[in-house]
Amino acid sequence: MEILRTENLTKTYVTGQEKVEALKDVNISIKKGEFVAVVGPSGSGKSTLLHLLGGLDKPTEGKVFVDGTDIYSMKEEKLAIFRRRQVGFIFQFYNLVPVLTAEENITLPLMLDGKKVDKAYLKEVVGLLGLNDRTNHFPSQLSGGQQQRTSIGRALIYKPSVVLADEPTGNLDSQSSKEVIDLLRLSVARYQQTLIMITHELSIAEQADRVIRIDDGRVVKDEVIR
Ligand code: ADP
Ligand code: ADP
Repeated sequence: MEILRTENLTKTYVTGQEKVEALKDVNISIKKGEFVAVVGPSGSGKSTLLHLLGGLDKPTEGKVFVDGTDIYSMKEEKLAIFRRRQVGFIFQFYNLVPVLTAEENITLPLMLDGKKVDKAYLKEVVGLLGLNDRTNHFPSQLSGGQQQRTSIGRALIYKPSVVLADEPTGNLDSQSSKEVIDLLRLSVARYQQTLIMITHELSIAEQADRVIRIDDGRVVKDEVIR
C-alpha cells in the first residue's frame, strides 16, 4: 500500500540573483512500512527532498501526497498539525530543547497540542530506547547517542506513519551509531512505520529495503534491494 507519493516535485532556491535548482521533477512512490535510504553527494538535494516530504518547506512546483492527502494544499495551520502528528523528524544534531528534560522533549509534540500523555506508551517508548534512567536528564547531561535516542522518542510519540531521518548518525561514533540504527529499525518495524533516511554510510544503506540515489536534484537510481 502506498503511503507517500511525489508528483514532479521541484524546488528552486532563489537568493539574490542566484537560482539553485535543488530538486527537479522527482516522482517517487513509497509503500507503507518501507525502509528507504536516500544517498548521493553533498549538495545533491537530499535534505531538500526530505524537508518537502515532511511539510517543512514549500515546493516550487509539483505535489506531495501523504496517505492520499496533497499536503501543500493544506492551510499553514493544518500543515503544522500534519507535521507534528503524521511525520516524525530526526536530525543530525538532534534539535532537542536544552531547557527541557529528555522526557519533556519526548512528549513535547503532545504538549504543543494540549494532549495528555499516554503513560503506558511513554514507558514503552522510553524502555525501547533504553532511556529509563535518563528521563529526568537535560540534553547537556546526555551522551550523543542518548540525545539521538531522545529525539527518536520525540519522533515516535505520535506514532506517525512516516519517519524522516536526515543523517541521524552523522555526529555519532560507530558504536552509538549502530545502537541508534538498530533501535530506529526496531521501533519503526514495531509500529509499521515508513522510514526514509538520508545516509552517507554504506553499511546503513545496505540495511534498507530500497535505495534512492539523488544527483544534481534528480533521482538517478531507485533500487529495491529486498
Ligand atoms: P544535500 O542534502 O544533498 O546536501 P541540499 O538539499 O541541502 O543537499 O541542497 C541542495 C542544493 O540547494 C545545494 O546547492 C544547496 O546549496 C542549495 N540549498 C539548500 N538549501 C538552501 C536554501 N535554504 N537557500 C538556498 N539554497 C539552498
Ligand atoms: P558516549 O561515549 O556514549 O558519548 P559519554 O562518555 O559522553 O558517552 O558519557 C558516558 C555516560 O555519562 C553516559 O551514560 C552519559 O549519559 C553520562 N553523561 C555524560 N555527560 C554527562 C553530564 N554532563 N552529566 C551527567 N551525565 C553525563
